[in-house]
Order: sequence, then structure tokens, then C-alpha cells
Amino acid sequence: MQTGKIGVTTENIFPVIKKFLYSDHEIFLRELVSNAVDATQKLRTLGVTGDFKGEMGELKVSVKLDEAAGTLTISDNGIGMTAEEIDKYINQIAFSGVTDFLDKYKDKAEAIIGHFGLGFYSAFMVAKKVDIITKSYKEGAQAVKWSCDGSPAFSIEEVEKDGRGSDIVLHIDDECKEFLQKAKIQELLNKYCKFMAVPIAFGKQTEWKDGKSVETEEDFIVNSVAPLWTKTPSGLKDEDYKSFYRSLFPMNDEPLFWIHLNVDYPFNLTGILYFPRVKNNIELQRNKIQLFCNQVFVTDQVEGIVPEFLTLLHGVIDSPDIPLNVSRSYLQSDANVKKISQYITKKVADRLNSIFKENRKEYEEKWNDLKLFVNYGMLSENDFYDRAKDFSLFTDVEGKYFTFDEYHTLIKDNQTDKDGNLIYLYATQKDEQYSYIEAAKNKGYSVLLADDQLDVPAISMLEQKFEKSRFVRVDSDVIDRIIAKENTPEMKLEDTQRDILSASFQSQMPKVEKAEFMVDVQALGETAHPVLITQNEYMRRMKEMSRYQQGMGFYAQMPDTYTLVLNADHALIKKVLEEGEKNTADALKPILSEIKGLEARETILRQEQGKKKPEEVTQAEKDDLKQTEDAISKQRDEKQNVIANYAKGNDAIHQLIDLALLQNGMLKGEALDKFIKRSVGLIK
Ligand code: ADP
Repeated sequence: MQTGKIGVTTENIFPVIKKFLYSDHEIFLRELVSNAVDATQKLRTLGVTGDFKGEMGELKVSVKLDEAAGTLTISDNGIGMTAEEIDKYINQIAFSGVTDFLDKYKDKAEAIIGHFGLGFYSAFMVAKKVDIITKSYKEGAQAVKWSCDGSPAFSIEEVEKDGRGSDIVLHIDDECKEFLQKAKIQELLNKYCKFMAVPIAFGKQTEWKDGKSVETEEDFIVNSVAPLWTKTPSGLKDEDYKSFYRSLFPMNDEPLFWIHLNVDYPFNLTGILYFPRVKNNIELQRNKIQLFCNQVFVTDQVEGIVPEFLTLLHGVIDSPDIPLNVSRSYLQSDANVKKISQYITKKVADRLNSIFKENRKEYEEKWNDLKLFVNYGMLSENDFYDRAKDFSLFTDVEGKYFTFDEYHTLIKDNQTDKDGNLIYLYATQKDEQYSYIEAAKNKGYSVLLADDQLDVPAISMLEQKFEKSRFVRVDSDVIDRIIAKENTPEMKLEDTQRDILSASFQSQMPKVEKAEFMVDVQALGETAHPVLITQNEYMRRMKEMSRYQQGMGFYAQMPDTYTLVLNADHALIKKVLEEGEKNTADALKPILSEIKGLEARETILRQEQGKKKPEEVTQAEKDDLKQTEDAISKQRDEKQNVIANYAKGNDAIHQLIDLALLQNGMLKGEALDKFIKRSVGLIK
């Protein structure tokens, strides 16, 4: 027996490994099984090149648990190692990489935690002692046993071993007893080794016999050696893709589409990405892409490798060209990774484009599920927008689909306003905004439906992209002002008449929680509703955006401001005005003439003072102006009071306000109850 010291400079490297890699303990199994897989694949290659002429047999890796002995053994019948090779690969080389790494990152423990393959030495994360019993494939090779207890000292001796290959025996540490449980090992094999390229046996298959489950002679193979993504796409059927999806995500609904990635230049990448049917919560959908390196599972955290918006996709990516032994921040700046990310974006766009072109009907049917990805992609990646603008769809309130270009052609003549802006009308709620949609349709306009979670942000983005175009929600103003044409109807009312109408309605507005109302009088035509409520597009969007963006909480706190628009052309409004004028005339007459006189006086006072330098204006003159102003505002209050007093007893005003609120879902509680009682009273 020979003993020696592993070629390491740092004496106590193992405690370091254990400590730093604590969070990723379990990857030891992946490392050892993939070493075993490599060893068998190397033998297969040697067989092909003729360098190995012996009996190949069935190549296989076995994982065995011996709870009593406290060991976990990974065996392969691959190339094995000679004593010299152990010295070279295990004692010297393998370790130097780790030492360099730890030296470099001594001060940055954080950087070390994470994914970097420690290879063989990761065994010491869970084992207090590791044996390698191995026999090289080379003719007449002597089997050897290497042992190491976690200190840099090791021993190596000659032993007897039946066949070629290696057994890696882990004497599991007392603190890591979980790795002696069958279920735990099964779970890890499932996670990391499910698609490795050589059969991996763990335990025996079971069958039902006499009412209970018994083990058979057959090995239980945990993996599928040729997963779907490694096959040629042309030979695969839809059902193959669907069943592979089911095997990956048994709980999920059937996917919408899939993309088989297959590239070998300038980097190597294969994989299958699925578009899932999206549920409400985007967050829950993430981390469903599994990243492999030559069929060895690496991670399901793919941020930085695939573009952010594609982390919503599900599936597998396999690439030997993604550097795995590095930290995440390094990964994101890696040129290869950037290329991969761009490639995937392009592939996804190409695939959607071809489905769109080949079968528009099917594409439209799936659009509602698909549009979240497309919107998200367009919002987050300019590259993707440039491609997606050809296959991204608008939906109108009638359920018809249009490409951006088609829709532009449809509305460009009719919906351009007098300033040459093209106005895209949209609704977010077909039912709630029904009247406004109808009003727009009556003008011959088209209304888009934007009811998905990313539709409104997408609209803001498109507004930047489309030339001289604005998106306006149908209920943000009266339609003739949303799309203002040259010949807008004239307002025939005088200022005092307007005042009476405004004050009548303003004074009777009930309190609505978190809402404020302004009143406006407009000529909307005889057939339009007498009263409607609008909400300014800009303010509403600011508030909506504040829900998505940080630092905009200020907007969210503000009350919603609405405009109650009175239609001066409508018979009922005319009647309210007429009665109002009649009923308030006597009381208003002296007030109005008083205001007139005071306003005249105010004008003169201001003019006089305006001629002087500020310091020449006397206190008496200042007081005079102030008193006049106060008197005006007092008279104006008085005027409002007179109108309010009249309006208070006018059922029509209340009824009209309530109807407008009702139409917008804002009539609630006591106000709703009053409305019902009043309405009942009105039924004759
Ligand atoms: P890596 O696999 O990244 O090279 P490892 O530390 O895992 O690093 O392994 C070091 C070397 O030891 C391997 O390159 C291989 O030559 C050898 N080796 C490890 N495990 C086996 C095995 N089961 N059979 C044959 N050789 C092995």
C-alpha cells in the first residue's frame, strides 16, 4: 500500500468545500453519475475508433444504497482508471482547478456558492470517506483502490475487481444521513439524471403479486437515454411533443405550440420550448425551463440565459456551450450566452411567424393565450418587437383579428383627427364601456379590445412606435372630442346658461369614494345620452402604470377624477336648463347684476393699480381691491346657493346623475337606494 498527499496547497480545503457549497450539496450525485456516464461513453468511442477491441457488453451505470454500511456507490463499466491515471486525474489535476478558484474567491464566499462543477471532489460534501475501486479497460490492467478521508492524505493499493470500470463508494457523513434514503436518492436522480445518455439503474422494477408490490429481477432504469430534443425534428409527430411535455410537467394543460431548437453553429444548442396555456399569475409560470449540458441537468433558473420574457416558456435547453462553472453575473456578460439568448429570441419569433402564416385560423384561436408572451416580448426586447410587429394581432370588440398593418389600413381614413393624428380607440371592458363603444360605432369607428394584463402597457409602447398615432380609451372623453374633426358641432349656450347647468349638477353629485367629478357641458347631438361620465386618458394611464412601476405610488394615492358631461342637445337637459332659468331668474337677477357691478369695479381698480409701481400702491387701495374680490366671491357663492337650492328639489337632475353613475358602476349604497326609491316614485 502506498500513501501520499493530494497536490493541494490549501491544507484544509475540504471544510471549505463543505461550507461554501452547503446550499448545493446535492449536486455531488450529478457530478459522480455524469463522470460515470462519461467513462462509459468514452469506452463506446474507443470501441468505434477501434482502440478498444474487447467485449463492450451492455453499458450501464448503477447507483446502489447500503444503509447498513452507510454507503452510496456509483458504479460504471466504462474505461476505468489505472493507478497512474488516478494520480494524474484525481490527485493532481482535478484539484488544482478548485484550488485556483478558491484562491481567487477567498474573500467572496457568495461568489463561490452557486453552480460550479466541483467534479469528483464534490463527493466530500456529503461523505466522510471516499473509495475509488477501479480497473482500466486496458489489457492486463491491475485494479486499484484509492481512499481518502477528507484530509489531503490518501492511500492507494492494488485490489481484485471483476470487470472493468469504476465503483465510487461514498461513506456518507453522519450529518448527511438523508443521502442514505432511497426516496432522496430517487428524487435526485430524477432531478439531475433523468435524461443522461447511458442507462442508470437504481434498485429493481416492482410488480404486483398476490396483492402486494414485489421486486423483480429487472433493473429499474431512472432515465431516458434519448430524450426528444436529441432527435431529428422531421421524424417527430405532434403527439411525441405533447407526451414529452406531459412527462416534464404532468400537472399542466396541453401546450399551445412548441419550438424545437437545433443549432450547431456558431454554438451548440438543442432543446424544445413550449408555449404553455397561461394562467393568471405570471410569476407561477416561471422557472419551467430546464437547462442541460449534454443531457446532464444543470438548473431550472434560466434568467440571463434566455431573455426575460421567455422565462415564461416551458421546456428544455441543452447546450455544452453555456459556461456552467461560473457565477450568474458572469453568465449574463458572457458573449456566448448573449448569442444564445438572441438566437432563442429569433427562433421563437420565426416559429410564431410561420405558424401565423401557415395557419392563421389556428393562430387566431390561440391568440388570447399567446398574446401575453408576445406583448411581454415586445415590451422587453426591441429585437423581438421588430419581428413580432408582423404577427402580433389586435382584437376588436367584435372578436375580429387584425395585424398592425391591416388595422392601420382599416382605420386610417376614418379615424384621423383634424390635426392629422390617427386615433386608435380601445375598450378594456366590453360590458362596462358598452355605451361608449356604441357611441364610437355609431360614428363608424372601430374599437379595439385591450382586456389582457399587458395590453395597456403594450398600448403605451405602440404609441411610441407608431407615427402620429394615439391610443385613447373610448370612455375617456366624448367621442367627438376623442377624434376631433374640422366641423365640430357648435355650442349654442350662453355662459350663464352653462353656469346654471354646471352648478345644478355639480351641487347634487353624491359622494363617491375615491372619486372626484367635474361637470362639463357639450353639444353631443340629440340622439346621444343626456349625461355621461368620462375619465381623462392621461391620468388614468398614470394611475394604471403606478400599479406596475415603483416610485409612482403618489399617483395611486390620488382620487380618480371624472368628468360628468351634460349633453346640451338632449331634450331632457334643455328642459332642466329651461326650468332652472325660470325658477332661479328672480333670485339670481340682483346677484348677477351685483356681480357685474363688482367685476367692473375690480377691472378698473386693477387697471389703476397696474399703472403704478408696486411700492406706490397705498394700503387703502390694496384693501379696496381685496374687499371687491371678496365681495365677488361671496356673490358667486350666493349664486351657487340659489342654483343648488333649486337643483335639490329637481328629481330629473338626480335621476340623470344617478343614471350616469349607474352606467359606470359607481352608484352604490345609500345613493343607489335613493335612486331606486325615486325611480319607483316616478312610475305612474
Ligand atoms: P471533470 O469530470 O470535470 O474532468 P472530475 O473531478 O469529475 O473532473 O474528474 C476528474 C477526472 O477523473 C475525469 O476527467 C476522469 O478522467 C477521471 N474520472 C472521474 N470519474 C471517473 C470514472 N467514473 N471513470 C473513469 N474516470 C473517471
